[in-house]
This record gives sequence, structure tokens and C-alpha cells, in this order.
Amino acid sequence: MVQSADVQKLFLQAIFSRGILSENLAKVLWKKSIEAVKAADQDLEIAYSNDPERWDNFVADVNVSLNDLDFEFKSIQDELNGKKLFALVNRKDDELAQLATDYSAVEIAFFKAVVEQIMLARNESYSVSSLAALREVSAGKEKINLTKSQAEVLLGSFVASGWLLRSKRGRYSLGPRSLLELSPYLKSTYAEEIIECTICHETMTKGIACKRDNCKTRMHYFCFETYRRRHSTCPACSLNWPQNATDDGLLSVGELAVRHGATEDRQTRGSPDSEDDQDMEHEPSQTQTKSRQPRRSQSTKKQNNAREEEEDEEDINEEEEEAEYTPPPAQRKSRR
Ligand SMILES: [Zn+2]
Ligand SMILES: [Zn+2]
Repeated sequence: MVQSADVQKLFLQAIFSRGILSENLAKVLWKKSIEAVKAADQDLEIAYSNDPERWDNFVADVNVSLNDLDFEFKSIQDELNGKKLFALVNRKDDELAQLATDYSAVEIAFFKAVVEQIMLARNESYSVSSLAALREVSAGKEKINLTKSQAEVLLGSFVASGWLLRSKRGRYSLGPRSLLELSPYLKSTYAEEIIECTICHETMTKGIACKRDNCKTRMHYFCFETYRRRHSTCPACSLNWPQNATDDGLLSVGELAVRHGATEDRQTRGSPDSEDDQDMEHEPSQTQTKSRQPRRSQSTKKQNNAREEEEDEEDINEEEEEAEYTPPPAQRKSRR
């Protein structure tokens, strides 16, 4: 089938330069690839169709041909709006080679350092303030040879290319492109920190968590909404759940898990836990939700132990009970 191979070839050329793309755009590129092949040979029996099954089959065919190259044309749902996104993903690459075409080694070192702060952030907040992100230029063992203003520009570029997201509140988190393309790197580097959605089993950095101690249920907002329509309790522990993701009775994963007034200490492997673990049982942290509940329940106390580190630029309320924490309106909107 020469013609379908040609369509695939054109299609791959088109997506290769685009990084991450929406499902709609991917389908448009598919259609254009078909049209281009047909224009070369009108007699070819090949036609574009809106049928979702045809698209799924095409994606499956593309992946068969990419298989030997260890590439995959993979999709995820955007964590904020649930929309489907596609990218060409190197399944083996756990060294961030994807960034090497656009960024220098120094810039990649900075990206890695910011990602580390995001992944190690307390309370499964998977986000870092811009102050803390910029601090990474000089905070690590090896100084990164960038000025703060260069780093600031760079952060903007990471956001523009979909590697990072910047919230209205000014916090950085992983963008869909990182979740999609850097998955091997994230999984190998942050095996302990990374969590998975109970419903779709994709990596999750924004969503809800069951409130029961030690319950491991985590869900994307859109996965929660679908699940909650048919079930009113946690699938793992049967705790009664509220109607909405933002209602009291669930915990947040992502930026909303950041407490007001919490100091944003620089996180390094080992240090936050050894501190937090001191007055609780020492279980080997083999699970993805290691010490989450104790960390949450303790950190109200901890945050008042004023540390020498600078405060976050965000508002500094003295103490805020988990139950009373209301997400800012901007965040409520963003999950639609
Ligand atoms: Zn999910
Ligand atoms: Zn539960």
C-alpha cells in the first residue's frame, strides 16, 4: 500500500516540527496529507473521513511504522481542560534530548532544576513560585551560568513551547508537552514522587486526592467529573465524596495544594522527608503517595517554624486550616 505509506510520511513530516498539537490540528494535517497524495495521483483509492474510528486506525498505523524507531505518536488529555493533545514521543529517551534542538546545555540544566523543584514540591503541589524558580540559577550545587533576567526570559520560552505552564498566580508547573514527551525522564528520575490518576493511569500533576489518610486515590479533574456522575464514594476506600472537585471533602493535587503562607523551601532529595518524618513511623517510601497525608497534616505546624529562607511572594496568612482553604476564583475557572 504505497499510498497510505505516503500519507504517513507526509503526516509525520508535518507533525515533526510542531512539537505538541491539538487533536483537531492533527486531523487537519492528516486530511492535508491525504489531499496532497491524491493530488499527485487522482486514481488512488484513499479518502479522508470524519469517522473517529478511521482516525484511530490511522494513528495505530502510524505507530506500527514508528515502532522500530522507538517513537510513538502519543496522546494525553490536557490536565486543565481535558482536551486531547498529540506529540511524537521518544519512548526511550530519559535524558531530555527533545529540548536539545531548541536549548543550550546551560538552559537545559536550568529547566531540569525547575522541574526538580516542581516534582519535589510539598503536598503534591507540583508547582513552584516564580521566585523559587529563578532562585534555581544559583541555588544548586553547581551554579547555572545564567543571569536572573536571562532565566526569566527562558521561563517564558518554556511556557510558550508548552514545556511549562504559568498560572495566573504566577506559579510554574509541568506543561502538557513535558507530561507527554518527557514521560520516560520523569518516570525514571522521579519514580517516588510521580503519581498516577486512578482512572486514566496517566501521570498526574493537577487534580484531586481522596481525603482519607493513606488512601491512594488520585484523579484528574476531568476524570473526577466523569467518575463522580456515577459514583459518590472513593473507589478505593469508599469515603463519601462531595459533588464538586472544589468542595470541601477532597484534597487538591497541584497548585491548590499550596498553603497560604507556607514558606517555599528549596526541596532536595531526602531533606524534606527526613524533617517531616521525624515524629512518625518510618515506613519505607515504596508507594507513590509516600507520606503524603502525614506531610499534609503536619505542615500547618511546620510552616510556622520560621525558616531563614525568603518568603514566597504570595500572600502570607499566618495559618489556614485545610478545610477552610478556598481556591482562588481563577483556578476554579481553569478546570472547565
Ligand atoms: Zn485521569
Ligand atoms: Zn479514598
